[in-house]
Parts: sequence; C-alpha cells; structure tokens
Amino acid sequence: MLRLLCVTAHPDDEAGGFGGSLLLAASRGIETYVICLTPGQAATHRGGARSDEELAAMRRQEFQASCRVLKVACGEVLDFPDAGLDRVNFYAAVGELVDRIRKIRPHVMLSIGPEGAVTAHPDHSMASLFATLAFHWAGRSNRFAEQLQNGLAPHRTQKLYYATALFTLPDRQPVSLAPVSATIEIGAEFLEAKINAFKQHTSQSPLFPRFEAMVRKRGTRELFHLAASTSPREMPEETDLFEEVEED
Ligand SMILES: [Zn+2]
Repeated sequence: MLRLLCVTAHPDDEAGGFGGSLLLAASRGIETYVICLTPGQAATHRGGARSDEELAAMRRQEFQASCRVLKVACGEVLDFPDAGLDRVNFYAAVGELVDRIRKIRPHVMLSIGPEGAVTAHPDHSMASLFATLAFHWAGRSNRFAEQLQNGLAPHRTQKLYYATALFTLPDRQPVSLAPVSATIEIGAEFLEAKINAFKQHTSQSPLFPRFEAMVRKRGTRELFHLAASTSPREMPEETDLFEEVEED
C-alpha cells in the first residue's frame, strides 16, 4: 500500500493547499497521514475559548473533523507552540518528525515551502524546514541513531513536494514562491470537500469567507514543487504526485 504524509504548522493548513490532493490520494487507495506541528493556540480568532489550552483542545477536535472530511487515515497534532516554531529546539522538532516518518514509512511527503506559503507565516516556513530535514535525515542511519534501537529502521521517502501557488497576496509580506512542477487536478467534488473541511475549523469561522474566495480563485488545481527525490532527475512536469513512485 502506498502512503502519503503531509506536514503542516496549524490546524486548518491541511485543507487549503493539500485537501484536494489528500482526497484524491485516498480515493485511489493511498493511505494518507497529516502531522500538524502546533494546536493553533495563538490564533486571533478564539471561538469563545477562555485560555490558550481551551483553544488548543478545541482546535485539535476541529482538526480531527477536518481530517475525517479529507478521508485522512491518521491525523496527529503535535504540541509545539503556535507562533513560536522559529524559537523551538530545531533538532528536537526534526527528531519528532523523523520518528513519525520511520514509523509511517511514507512514499511521498508534502509540506509548505520555506517562504511560508502566500501568507508568509513564520510557522509555515519552520514547518517546511523541519519537514525538509526530516525527509532527508529519516533515511540516514547516523541521524537520530538512538531511535533505531527500538526496532525502527531508516526510511527514505521517495519524493518531497512543497505546496506552491501562481499568485501572491498584496496585503502580506513579500514571498518568493517555488516554481510549479506538479499540477494536480482535484475536480469540483474535492474542491467543495476541501472547503467543507476548512469549515470544520469552527473557531476560525471569521476566516471562512476569505478562505473560500481564495480557494475558489485557485480553482480545481493544487500546485506543487518537487523539492527532492531519491532518484536524481531533471525537473519534471507532473500531473500525479505518485508518478514514478515504487511500492515497496
Ligand atoms: Zn497556517
């Protein structure tokens, strides 16, 4: 069975850039996983929560509801601080992801680009850097070698993609996006489903109109940049994230 792992920063990141591709993968029998690094407790919109802890608990539930809509086999929210990923212990964060990669053994990984996506959020940039190093280091026997004493083996994921876009947001900090190398047609049904997935994040309901407008503007395509691959190659033009991926 093929497996796909998506690494994000905040509950709700999974819906916009990745939702259609997650659904498409699931519809093809690929097992999908999402790891979200923070429970989103620093959000501006609080959904009536009286404390960061309450908001975190609320957003963990919303994330699971979104994952159910996106037919994600397993969604996990880690406990790193929202709005603080640039100040956490880099080695520890990469180590947690390496551990998950060695357990899940994905064939393909998705994450955000180091620019931080169109919103330029520093947490997005850090999620990208953690996921990128974890992708590379999970396959090496001399990185986080202490994990390998518990029955885990090094695992090389065959491809790493960054979500990217063909537009930027004029009211945000400037971003330099990765060029598009993979265009995934998700279809009208999955476009509606990913909007529905985002709307499971009810604490963030003031963002719904803006999100929906942006997602509809992007349309039925999700765009990715192939950032790394286990087989050296020219930059491909792909329409399938699992192109040339071998089942083990
Ligand atoms: Zn985010």
